[in-house]
Amino acid sequence: MKHETAAVIAERYGVTAEDIVRWNSLVADEDGRYVHPGARLKIHARSFPAPRQRARHRVREDETLERVAERYGVRAEELLIWNPWLLQGEKRRALRAKMQLTVWAPSSVAGPGGATRGPAIPEFSAPSDQPVATSRGRPHKGRLIEGAALPVNESLYTIRFERLAFGTTLAVLNIQRALASFRYETAYPGPVYIGAMSRKTGRRLRPHKSHQSGRDVDVRLPAMPYATRTQKLREWEVDWHATWALIQAFAETGEVQQIFLEMKFWRRLRRAAVEMGTPDAEIASIMRAYVRHSRGHVAHIHVRFVCSEAAEYCRD
Ligand SMILES: [Zn+2]
Repeated sequence: MKHETAAVIAERYGVTAEDIVRWNSLVADEDGRYVHPGARLKIHARSFPAPRQRARHRVREDETLERVAERYGVRAEELLIWNPWLLQGEKRRALRAKMQLTVWAPSSVAGPGGATRGPAIPEFSAPSDQPVATSRGRPHKGRLIEGAALPVNESLYTIRFERLAFGTTLAVLNIQRALASFRYETAYPGPVYIGAMSRKTGRRLRPHKSHQSGRDVDVRLPAMPYATRTQKLREWEVDWHATWALIQAFAETGEVQQIFLEMKFWRRLRRAAVEMGTPDAEIASIMRAYVRHSRGHVAHIHVRFVCSEAAEYCRD
């Protein structure tokens, strides 16, 4: 990229500027620069950078470049690369309120090849000492028999409404399984909010149409570290790399029927999947098998589990 230096690139991959110069037999030009826009560099990376996504920052009164950098977990030097108009020759222009800055903010999940993993697979429990909770009828017109409560487990998720956190045994077990695997694979540190599931006995749950038979759960999308709103996330506040990992974890339980998310975000999701190193065939098969469009699913995914085998009267 324009204005990028060997030192900035080196830091991203855990190597030194001298390494980059040596591996690529680079020669400095008359300004002392080694790298130029468009150049392809060979790098033996020691660490893989977290995937990044683009955000727009509106400068506030008295905000400095350093403060903006800190908020997004980047370096002030990088902000100058992404916003070259901030430089006038060698001089930096002062920030003024309402200026718009482009920021490529790192996700809090590890990128492909990143060694980061959660400390261990977090614990989860099967609701075994109770009768098996099953669905009767359809998600849009049905009820829940012997509703199982999703256990409180802050190492995995945060339950928003305990009286609406009931589901089938299969759903309750696999929500925990998916979240445990997501935490382990990504080491995502932020909260994952579990929104509405069903009431203990199921049935109508306004304003939702479904959520009646214990097979549905709303999961708020993982947020970027700089997100300020806790509930209604905007598109650029969503951590799409973490979202992909979460969808993958639900798909891998093998017990999910559908995952609803507004179609306008599918492209962002696919791009994040590629950047997370997921093979194209796997991305296509997950998208085709599970991801469905549904209006209003912008800040959360809605996961629907299959009918359990024991549930004779469960219907789609
Ligand atoms: Zn829902």
